[in-house]
Amino acid sequence: MKFEEIELSGFGKYPKAKCRVTRPPGIFDLSELLKNNSVIPRGLGRSYGDASLNDKGVVSESLLMNRFISFDENKGILRCEAGVTYKDLLETFVIRGWFPGVTPGTKYVTMGGAIASDVHGKNHHKVGSFSSYVLSFKILLASGEILECSRSEHSDLYWATVGGMGLTGFILECEIQLKKITSPYIFNKAIKLGNLDALFDKIEEFSDDYHYSVAWIDVVAKGSSYGRGILLLGNNAEMEELPEKLKKKSLLKYIEKKIAVPFEIPFNALNKMTVSLFNAGIYMTARNTEDYQHYDKYFYPLDFVLDWNHIYSKNGLIQYQLNVPLEKGREAIDKVLKTVVSYGGGSFLAVIKKMGNQEGILSFPFEGYTLSMDFPVKKGTIEMCSQLDKIVMEYGGRTYLTKDSILDEKTFKQMYSGHWEKWMKIKMKYDPDNKFTSNLGRRIGLCLS
Ligand SMILES: Cc1cc2nc3c(=O)[nH]c(=O)nc-3n(C[C@H](O)[C@H](O)[C@H](O)COP(=O)(O)OP(=O)(O)OC[C@H]3O[C@@H](n4cnc5c(N)ncnc54)[C@H](O)[C@@H]3O)c2cc1C
Repeated sequence: MKFEEIELSGFGKYPKAKCRVTRPPGIFDLSELLKNNSVIPRGLGRSYGDASLNDKGVVSESLLMNRFISFDENKGILRCEAGVTYKDLLETFVIRGWFPGVTPGTKYVTMGGAIASDVHGKNHHKVGSFSSYVLSFKILLASGEILECSRSEHSDLYWATVGGMGLTGFILECEIQLKKITSPYIFNKAIKLGNLDALFDKIEEFSDDYHYSVAWIDVVAKGSSYGRGILLLGNNAEMEELPEKLKKKSLLKYIEKKIAVPFEIPFNALNKMTVSLFNAGIYMTARNTEDYQHYDKYFYPLDFVLDWNHIYSKNGLIQYQLNVPLEKGREAIDKVLKTVVSYGGGSFLAVIKKMGNQEGILSFPFEGYTLSMDFPVKKGTIEMCSQLDKIVMEYGGRTYLTKDSILDEKTFKQMYSGHWEKWMKIKMKYDPDNKFTSNLGRRIGLCLS
């Protein structure tokens, strides 16, 4: 097994860590992997913080384990290796009339990474997280044993692994239920809203009627426009409802067009002025519309700009995503936004979404409102995020581990109180020596330092 010493980071490029990286080509190499005492699995490194970093330890990438194993075309059940990405899946199965039941906002994510983060999509309020579609998975444990887990087989390990951030073992294969579609298009309804209250009212009014729902907000607008935004609602479009032009296009293989930010901008291009201009520009040019959008544009707008994280300069970014209970959720988000503004901060991108229930023990979502924002790493950013943590906790909320790079052990344990204790018992049962460990795991006290 080959190891390479590499300085790695997650998508936010903050923090960085020197790790021994290996990329095993298959199950048979993994017993050798376990000779190391400190291992964390990694997919495409699309988690923002340090979830897939392991300072001075081993990082085992799944990218060569990317084979489809079987597909039941009557039931839409796919069995594949953990390194298969959403991109692989979409390119192979959309044309056959199948779509992932849950997708995050980028298709550069592996199945292993999606299970370990129990990712959510624009339809969380309707169907829950990715685990709703994960029928089973095969996992390599610290002992070298390989177990098949599902809701009925080793269910404790199943529920500790979905959302378990790679700390229970290495997912080798998984079985996923895909969803039947008749076209690759989404019916999209955009509603422009003048302030935060109007935005929340419309989320409540419409989210039951639409499968997909998410709102973009302008974090820097002031006065009567404070919290203005655009609510985006959607449903999978049936082939017969599409205009003729799109019906013909539906049958063609989709060819992506991409632009790139080819290198890190040496200075911080995102200051108060550029963020304000960008947000105002989006709002001003937006219209109340109804149209049909290709799934690629609808779900993965950020993928259109490859390596857009480069605009944050070499210091990187923190993506801060919180979830607060429905009751008083508006109040909590209002307080968070005002705190961001009081720090002179803004967010290049900010989205609000209504969430449904959670199942995984450490999974992030629960019934409430989620807000995500990204901030350039600079003087005051960490202090501001810690301040936001206090508000989130005051309202009984939590932040998302796959995007986190700043939580300390005490704050994490308060946010995930009742959950982490339950998870820890299962970790101790399957990995008593903490072989599976990461920077995130040690920082928040899920593994021993
Ligand atoms: C532009 C963008 C948009 C995003 N949008 C969303 C969104 O809408 N919703 C959402 O929920 N998330 C979102 N994310 C976060 C992303 O979906 C998750 O971080 C996802 O887990 C990344 O997958 P990955 O394959 O890159 O995993 P990595 O980042 O490499 O790893 C993530 C975690 O999974 C573990 N892991 C990876 N592979 C395995 C394996 N084989 N076995 C066990 N554990 C494993 C790692 O140890 C780590 O803890 C977004 C990220 C980006 C960059």
